[in-house]
Amino acid sequence: MLCLLVACSAAPVNNEPANNRSSNTTNHAPANNTPAPEPEPEPEPEPTPAELGFVITTGVHGNEPSGYLIQDQLAKLGFRVFGPCNPWGIANNSRYLESGDDLNRMFGRTDCPQAEDVKKFLAEHPPKFLLDLHEDPDGTGAYLIQHGPDDAIGRKIIDALKADYEFDPEPSFMVVKGEDGLLKPTIQQLRALKFVGVYGLAFHAWYTHGCTSIVVECPGSWPEEKRKAYQLRVCELAWKYFRE
Ligand SMILES: [Zn+2]
Repeated sequence: MLCLLVACSAAPVNNEPANNRSSNTTNHAPANNTPAPEPEPEPEPEPTPAELGFVITTGVHGNEPSGYLIQDQLAKLGFRVFGPCNPWGIANNSRYLESGDDLNRMFGRTDCPQAEDVKKFLAEHPPKFLLDLHEDPDGTGAYLIQHGPDDAIGRKIIDALKADYEFDPEPSFMVVKGEDGLLKPTIQQLRALKFVGVYGLAFHAWYTHGCTSIVVECPGSWPEEKRKAYQLRVCELAWKYFRE
């Protein structure tokens, strides 16, 4: 309404010079020469993480609940979240599926309903970047396992969090050895996993959708609030570096 009023008041009302018109206003600006101010363009809303394909998965291992416990908060922040991937495990505080299988070793097969649910979700919402939130019950420090060895996001996240959280100086996973909190399987190691056919959600996301995907780990021995805060910080930082 304000813009309309301004535009109307600046429009010429007749051909008479402005200073000859009778006026009850004290504004002596030459109305005929003042262009109507352009209305401010509406700023484009920032795209949400979900709109840019930033996906977070939780609760693959039911005894590692911190990601699941913050998933509503993550969804409110605009992330696309799928979880818990293992609802029975979360309900029973178990790493495993009700079948006794480890969900995170079932993504190379097609006969695991919970893995198929995750695959379907990712097919419907193809990730450009994925975080899979875990805990390591035996871990002594936090670490990240980055699939998609080509970018520096994992290292940047760790550098940004080092002052606040302890990272494992020598993390290892299967044959992969890392340093300073970061495991980055090489392309050769990832190919070997594919050959063996036993792999998890993050590998599936990287292999199928070509995105960087990171398994986020923190010690299960950390207090719950610390685990939740860590997971949230990792998600926020990953989103920040993903956009840069
Ligand atoms: Zn886990």
